Amino acid sequence: MSLQLTFSTSDRFFRKSSFLLWPTGSGAPNSRTYLCPANMQNEDLFKQVVAHAKEYGFVFQSSELYDGLSAVYDYGQNGVELKKNIREYWWRSMVQLHQNIVGLDSAIFMHPRIWKASGHVDGFNDPMIDNKDSKKRYRADVLLEDYQEKNRQKIQKEVEKAAKRFGASFDESMFIKTNPRIQELAAANERIDQILKDGLESGELGIVKSLIEELGIVCPVSGTKNWTDVRQFNLMYSTQMSATENGEDSLYLRPETAQGIFVNFLNVQKTGRMKIPFGIAQTGKAFRNEIVARQFILRMKEFEQMEMQFFCKPGTELTWYSHWKEARMKWHLSLGADVRHYRFHDHVKMAHYANAAVDIEFEFPFGFKEVEGIHSRTDFDLGRHEEFSGKKIRYFDPESNDSYIPYVVETSIGLDRMFLLTLCRCFKTDLSGGEPRTLLSLPPALAPIKAAILPLIKKDGLPELAERIFNDLRYDFACYYEEKDTIGKRYRRMDAIGTPYCITVDHESLAQEDVTLRHRDSMHQERVKISALRDILSANTGMNNLLRSL
Ligand code: ATP
Repeated sequence: MSLQLTFSTSDRFFRKSSFLLWPTGSGAPNSRTYLCPANMQNEDLFKQVVAHAKEYGFVFQSSELYDGLSAVYDYGQNGVELKKNIREYWWRSMVQLHQNIVGLDSAIFMHPRIWKASGHVDGFNDPMIDNKDSKKRYRADVLLEDYQEKNRQKIQKEVEKAAKRFGASFDESMFIKTNPRIQELAAANERIDQILKDGLESGELGIVKSLIEELGIVCPVSGTKNWTDVRQFNLMYSTQMSATENGEDSLYLRPETAQGIFVNFLNVQKTGRMKIPFGIAQTGKAFRNEIVARQFILRMKEFEQMEMQFFCKPGTELTWYSHWKEARMKWHLSLGADVRHYRFHDHVKMAHYANAAVDIEFEFPFGFKEVEGIHSRTDFDLGRHEEFSGKKIRYFDPESNDSYIPYVVETSIGLDRMFLLTLCRCFKTDLSGGEPRTLLSLPPALAPIKAAILPLIKKDGLPELAERIFNDLRYDFACYYEEKDTIGKRYRRMDAIGTPYCITVDHESLAQEDVTLRHRDSMHQERVKISALRDILSANTGMNNLLRSL
């Protein structure tokens, strides 16, 4: 969750300056070097991904028929399958693989006092600023973050230039420590952090505006520095419980799923006879009135979260925090991403109740962005609910014979962001065959369709045999049958939605009881027996292999 009660702002403001980048080729994110992965930033690539998502039924703008609703999206026939598979992989890795983690599906509507207790009513704010000329609204902290990102890119360039100049003798960490230009840029970024923190903590938003002016930050639309004052803006949507609007029965659409877990802690612990340490996992919709919605489904007003709150004994939380930090990174990498496109981003300054927090970031075509947060939240949430509800929320520990409010380590990942990450990572243009071929090299377990069954032509009994194969396999796998168009066109369509296997039925199949199995990424084709298809698909498209790799 992204709330800082004391600072009246969200945690995204307090996480600058400590990137842990992975050294090239290393297996663990433990280096402090500034060696960035190959530059993947590419606006064109991102535009292609967005267009592809629409063209192939993954994501549509919500209410498109009525000119669209900004920052709200619908998932189409292929998107819904991909999303479901990502959710399932997360769920099975959390709940099925852990004896001490159970699931929950709490309601979106909750008692309004829950949001008072959690701090969201008073503190779930973003500082906004408007440009008077373009009339566009921005998050003040994001304008500053973008400025800092440019400084980081400049640092990166200095390092790359020096690495080229000095060759094998280049001592990168020494260079970073001693190069005056890098020192200057890093100090400028630290100063921005400090002023932003001071302004948000004290509520003196004037200093944030002055900083934006001083840095010469202009509106990307009007190009001017004609800014309004910075104001706080609460991100929660509210609605009414009953038909009469009397103001007392206001409800909030939940801005995170976590609170549903906290308020059910005792229910689950008692009915499930859970012993600490244990976790509760939940996936579901969350709503935030984001001021600036950008980058497609990266930041939406209605989105889905996959959260797990892990309850542990006070004093053990940092061990569990390290455990979940590693475990979650392993989960991401198990899907086949290049390690260099991930990094940990430590929160340097934290709210008083959190004692550790980190973001897992992925390098999207538009730069590194948070995908998941891991937060050690002490006993803050359960303690606040105890205070506000007036009911004890304690765990009796039979081993130590005492009662306490458990500490919490949470892992919180955005399903839509994970979806976008997957699309960006797997979208490829293959030039090896002469004509460009667009493909989504999705991990087979996540692919919307596992196999397409295609009769080479629409006669001579081939459709009948292909249908027989389809009817046999569809009980176990998401399959697709198609007989229209040339086989080449059908292969291309399947490549574009990430189908790992195409099964082609030809004349030989009738006599030999075999088919051509085409592999999506390599386009390799092999002849296999129809009777072997089930085993091949199970071994290569199931989630078991992924789960076993964790
Ligand atoms: P950000 O700084 O990007 O707004 P946050 O720190 O507010 O994120 P959390 O409150 O920690 O995010 O939420 C956990 C996860 O939920 C995030 O890592 C992200 O993947 C996802 N998420 C948060 N806000 C949105 C949104 N508006 N649209 C889509 N996903 C979101």
